[in-house]
Amino acid sequence: MRVVLLGPPGAGKGTQASVLIKKYKALHLSTGDLLREAVKLGTAVGKEAKTYMDRGELVPDEIVARMITDKLRSAPTQNGFLLDGFPRTGKQAEILDAALAELSLPLELVIYFETGAATILSRLTGRRVCRQCGANYHVVNIPPKKAGVCDACGGELYQRTDDQEATIKNRIEVYNRQTKELIDYYQAKGLLKKVSGDLEVEQLFGIVSGVLKSAGLV
Ligand code: AMP
Repeated sequence: MRVVLLGPPGAGKGTQASVLIKKYKALHLSTGDLLREAVKLGTAVGKEAKTYMDRGELVPDEIVARMITDKLRSAPTQNGFLLDGFPRTGKQAEILDAALAELSLPLELVIYFETGAATILSRLTGRRVCRQCGANYHVVNIPPKKAGVCDACGGELYQRTDDQEATIKNRIEVYNRQTKELIDYYQAKGLLKKVSGDLEVEQLFGIVSGVLKSAGLV
């Protein structure tokens, strides 16, 4: 499968991606995860990216596009890939199209997670992330077995700086201003399938799996 997961922050793209790759073994590429890793390592890219991420703004196209195209060229893509949080602008979508054409790996499907404002807010304010392995939890919807501790690796759970309410508002505005237009872009290419991001994890996973099956991708 060569699939893009598209939708606002808090739509559940990352959660679905991690369940999907467990079952279907595709490569999960999340620009948010790659950037957070770069920040943690203190690389030059990480230092530059952090100033944008903390404000809920988008990191410049050239930086994220290079991260993704480098990965697509070097990582194993024989079982396909799931792009999560990329592309986020028209420019990124064009860079992606060109890179995939060059690799003869054209996109097969874009799944758009249509999600209401109340869901977005409650998902993001309740989200907790493992400092060590990056696994995602939610204080109510996906609680860890032991509060504040990752089930998978025992790492400490924290709240992302950009999951504070003021930054969330800006991220949603940025999505509406810069990313939403990709719905029309992929619709025009005949690649878009819409699902409801408001559903809970299990139910949405069933629907997303159904969409992948109908498209002949799994
Ligand atoms: P996410 O984990 O997808 O919510 O991304 C967290 C933050 O990383 C975003 O608010 C942006 O600052 C940055 N980011 C992630 N993906 C991209 C992208 N494709 N383009 C620009 N910035 C991005």
